[in-house]
Amino acid sequence: MKDCVFCKIVAGEIPSAKVYEDGEIVVFKDIAPLAKVHLLCVPKEHYARLSELNGERKRVLADAAEKIASLAPSWGLGEGYRLVVNQGESAGQTVPHLHIHILGGETLGWEK
Ligand code: 5GP
Ligand code: ZN
Repeated sequence: MKDCVFCKIVAGEIPSAKVYEDGEIVVFKDIAPLAKVHLLCVPKEHYARLSELNGERKRVLADAAEKIASLAPSWGLGEGYRLVVNQGESAGQTVPHLHIHILGGETLGWEK
């Protein structure tokens, strides 16, 4: 989608520090990390929210969860990690292209 920062990262039009990519998802370092390791897992297909899921998108997300689990140790997350999906402005979503935050590399607190 035009003017979507994550679509531009997917297309390689904006540089990013990618740690994984396949035909369905890309995982790259967050530009403003909130933990020692802060990655973003982004489906290549543009859609904004979980309320827009369909059968294929559900499959891509389920496969993404499996890929994250298997690759986490290689990203320095062998001790554990947190997955966060912000939905809507009140949750702090700033980029309207669905993404999973992957946070870890340190002991995490729990704040709302
Ligand atoms: P949200 O607030 O929508 O849940 O998360 C958006 C995330 O994208 C933020 O953590 C922000 O730092 C990250 N971000 C925004 N623009 C860029 C960018 O151009 N490159 C990278 N690597 N991360 C970005
Ligand atoms: Zn997009």
